[in-house]
Formats: sequence, C-alpha cells, structure tokens
Amino acid sequence: MNVEELLHMKGGAGDSSYAANSKHQAKAILNIRPMLEKAIIEVHKHLPEKMVVADLGCSSGPNTFLMLTEVLKTIGKQCQRLGVEPPEMLFFLNDLPGNDFNTLFQSINVFEESVRAEKDAMSVPHFIAGLPGSFYGRLFPSQSVHIFHSSYSLHWISQVPEGLESKGEHTPPNKGNLYIGKTSPPLVVKLYQDQFQRDFSVFLKSRFDELVPGGQIVLTFLGRNNVDIYNGEMGSVWGLVSESLNSMVLEGLVEEGTLDSFHPPVYAPSTEEAKAVINEQGLFQIINIEMFESNWDPYDDSDDDFVFDSIQSGANFATTIRSVLEPIIASHFGAAIVDELFTRFAMNAAKHLLKEKTKYAVLALCLKKKEQM
Ligand code: SAH
Repeated sequence: MNVEELLHMKGGAGDSSYAANSKHQAKAILNIRPMLEKAIIEVHKHLPEKMVVADLGCSSGPNTFLMLTEVLKTIGKQCQRLGVEPPEMLFFLNDLPGNDFNTLFQSINVFEESVRAEKDAMSVPHFIAGLPGSFYGRLFPSQSVHIFHSSYSLHWISQVPEGLESKGEHTPPNKGNLYIGKTSPPLVVKLYQDQFQRDFSVFLKSRFDELVPGGQIVLTFLGRNNVDIYNGEMGSVWGLVSESLNSMVLEGLVEEGTLDSFHPPVYAPSTEEAKAVINEQGLFQIINIEMFESNWDPYDDSDDDFVFDSIQSGANFATTIRSVLEPIIASHFGAAIVDELFTRFAMNAAKHLLKEKTKYAVLALCLKKKEQM
C-alpha cells in the first residue's frame, strides 16, 4: 500500500463524508483550545508583522476552520488588549495530495462569512493557501512558520511497517489481527513501534527546521492510555474491524488472502513513547503533554461508563469510522464490501459497548522549538 498516494478521508459533503462526520475530531480541537491560545500568545510576544500558521492533515473540513477561527480570535483579542496592529496572517492548509481540497476550498467562503459576522473579534488580515504534501518531510522553507497545528493526523504513519507481509508459504506474522491485537507477536509490536519512532522523529526534525526561533507546535493524535499494549484503545477499534472482516471471510464474502495482506498504516503511542522520541531528539522543549479520553459515539458527551443506547452508539461510531476508513478499505477490498462491513461493524461495536464502554485515548502536546546551539 502506498500510503501517501492512497490515504484520504471520504471526500465531498455527502451524508457519509468526512466533512459531515467529524464531530468527534472537532471535540479534540475544542479540548486543546487553551493550549493553542497559550502557544499563539507566546509566539505573538515577539510582535511579528506577519505570522504563518500551518494546519497539517487538515482534511476536507470543517474542523480546520475551527482552528483558524481560534487563531484569529486569539490574535484579534490579544492585539486589542495590547493596543497594537494585528499581524498579517498566512494560513497553510496541508494534507496529502489525494485529499479533497476542492470541497475544502469551496468552504472558505462560508468561513469568511462567519469571520465577517464577528468582525470585532476577528478583524485580522489573513490569507489562506492549500499545501499538498506529506508532513513526514519538509513542506516549508527554513524558519518560515510561527505555529504548527495538527489534529487527529499523526497516528497515520508514513507506510505499512516492512516485515508484516507473509514470506513465501509461511503464515503472515500478524495472522488474525489488524494493527496490534491480542495475539500479535512481539515482533509485530516492534515493527509498528519502530515505524512510529522513525516517522515521528522525521516529523519533528522537519518542523524544527521550518519553525522561526521560538515557534511552537500544538498536536493531538490518537494515543494509548492502557499500559497493556495488547489491549490498547486503538487496538480495540481495529479488533472490531478485524472481527467484522473475519466473519465475512467465513461466509466467503472476502478472500482470506486479501484480509491477510491488509495492514493499517497507523500507530497510537503512549505518553512515554511520544516523550521518549522528543527527548531523544532534543530539538523541542515539552510545554505540555496530556492524554484525554473521548467516547466512541461522538454524540455521547457524558463522562461516565454508561452507554444509554448501545445500538445507536454503535451505529454512530460506525458512521464516524466509515468516513475515515472507507477510502483505504475500498481500495484494498473493493467498494462492494463497504456497506456490509460497516453494518457488521456497527453491530459488533454495539455488542462491545454493552460489555464495556471503551474510549479513545487522545494525546495532546505543545512543543517549543529549542534555541539552536
Ligand atoms: N485535522 C482534521 C482531519 C483529521 S483526519 C480534523 O481534525 O478533523 C487525518 C488527516 O491526516 C487526513 O485527511 C489524512 O489524509 C491526513 N494525513 C495523514 N497522513 C498524512 C501525511 N503524511 N501528510 C499530510 N497529511 C496526512
């Protein structure tokens, strides 16, 4: 699987699109609002005349505009408070080339209308540009960006770790699991971990080179709260996908070999694992690092362990996951299985939620570029 060519969320603005089903991801942006505000105010202290802010892995909307709104409001208010002219802001919206940039660009008008409606808080001159390319590598000239933001994107690694494919007649090493499941051998865990470490390290080094002195990065992505890596939160989600696909293999709807050769390019690290990469590299000071939890069902805002309607929650969860996974599932297994797969996924998720209200773990980080030696 060539991740950089194939990966994208479901485009357009239809009922099953990412744009219509990313309420869950919106919550993460709202959760880290204080972290982002602090970073912006800190970077603005040097009173730059121009500021460049980039959203990495922006997808096709609408959450990227939540971030832009947040930045403009924060800068607008801060400049009013200080009695200074606001800087000219340039926003770059980045994603892989397969992203539906058309839908994204077509929503800019609606965003600008909302900005005009709040003119007092947001009368900050600003420009918006799209930037296709992988964030696992350089995207900008050196020392040209003030703030990087990236939400719900860095759990996508740059490639399927090498070594997961079956060799000759041998059984594939991760047979029966997708990502890291209960029976994945330690070798598979290590392959995923090594890939994450390499990728995250490349990501950080690229951002270090691109940030102005004192620049900051605000990140959220899926992580792991459970100490047992074989029972990680991301593993539970892939466990449900695996269960659904395996039942389709048993009924002859999916070929066993096609399932065996499917390896999702994702990794969800623990706080310690993410910290270890940052500290080993030594390029960033950690301003903040925290893990928060989020319910599978994006319409369930409760903090408790009670699922009110597991069937409905399972269906809501399936719709969210489908808007993210449909393109890579369809490209590997064919579009014909998608409806059936997510019908089964919804039922399996409902059954799981009856037993246990598993949540996502979301890692939130704020990093500041260290002074160059
Ligand atoms: N930030 C948005 C979208 C999250 S979905 C939100 O919060 O709603 C994750 C996005 O990351 C997808 O659009 C995917 O295409 C993008 N992505 C994954 N790997 C990437 C990479 N290497 N470079 C750029 N974008 C990437």
